[in-house]
Amino acid sequence: MPDPSSRAEDTAPTRLEAVRGDITRQSVDVIVNAANSSLLGGGGVDGAIHRAGGPEILAECRELRAGALREGLPTGDAVATTAGRLPARWVVHTVGPVYAVRTDRRPLLESAYRRSIEVSAGLGARSIAFPAVSAGVYGWPPDDSARLAVTAVRAALAAGPSSVELVRFVLFSDEMHELFAAELSRP
Ligand code: ADP
Repeated sequence: MPDPSSRAEDTAPTRLEAVRGDITRQSVDVIVNAANSSLLGGGGVDGAIHRAGGPEILAECRELRAGALREGLPTGDAVATTAGRLPARWVVHTVGPVYAVRTDRRPLLESAYRRSIEVSAGLGARSIAFPAVSAGVYGWPPDDSARLAVTAVRAALAAGPSSVELVRFVLFSDEMHELFAAELSRP
């Protein structure tokens, strides 16, 4: 029997990395989707995931909407479906907040990252690819998006040992990639 008190030391620290690329091409256990509350499709990374993954993903989203998520997926929460034809085992759909100048919606964006990791870990996922949630149509400023994403993911992973060995941020532009890489290089 392993000594439970030595578990933290036995678990290798999760690797965090940033790559420039298309999240639909990532061979990982979980691809995170920056969805909207309806779960019924949208533009940006959501559209790309449904196009590349095929109709199975949307069919499962519709089932969720007909059942447990009748009101939609709340902002800051996450839920898993099949990954269809994507080279992943699951898509974890999360809803980031729309950026607002006058109200602090950072806790909701932190929650979107944290819940995505919790749902992924609940599935036993070892590797997760994240887009820059809320940084597209939802308008989150790029530099703050990188800082918040890295801080939130580090905090979620520090909550305790889990199955997650790799978190890869997949950024669609050179600018976003540079911001995330710079943030990750900070201790
Ligand atoms: P949100 O509505 O949460 O802002 P978007 O899909 O509009 O979500 O944008 C989130 C981020 O994902 C943006 O930085 C956008 O450039 C990026 N993005 C769009 N398509 C892809 C893709 N195929 N792979 C990775 N990132 C993508």
